[in-house]
Amino acid sequence: MLKFYEARDSLEARQLIDALSAHRIEATVLGEYLSGAAGELSALNFPWVWLINNDDLPIAQSVLDGFLAARGALPKPGPWVCPGCGAQVDAGFEICWQCGADRK
Ligand SMILES: [Zn+2]
Repeated sequence: MLKFYEARDSLEARQLIDALSAHRIEATVLGEYLSGAAGELSALNFPWVWLINNDDLPIAQSVLDGFLAARGALPKPGPWVCPGCGAQVDAGFEICWQCGADRK
């Protein structure tokens, strides 16, 4: 068993496992039920995808790269929050649309 990838949520974890199984790689999710007190966010809530066979790692890594790229998560940064006024500014803009402050 090999700890492979920390997913954002159980849906992402399952999608990744589907992508891995399409390449005949066995994987499983651990940790998604480790939530603590009700409504409390904890790092333990993030599900980890584990590889069953450690030897699958090189292929699994390339599957993960493709998975993340297909989702559009890698090259595209998300919106940022202006340090001056707190407005949310879309990625691609380097100054705040509201107050004109530079992105820090
Ligand atoms: Zn601003």
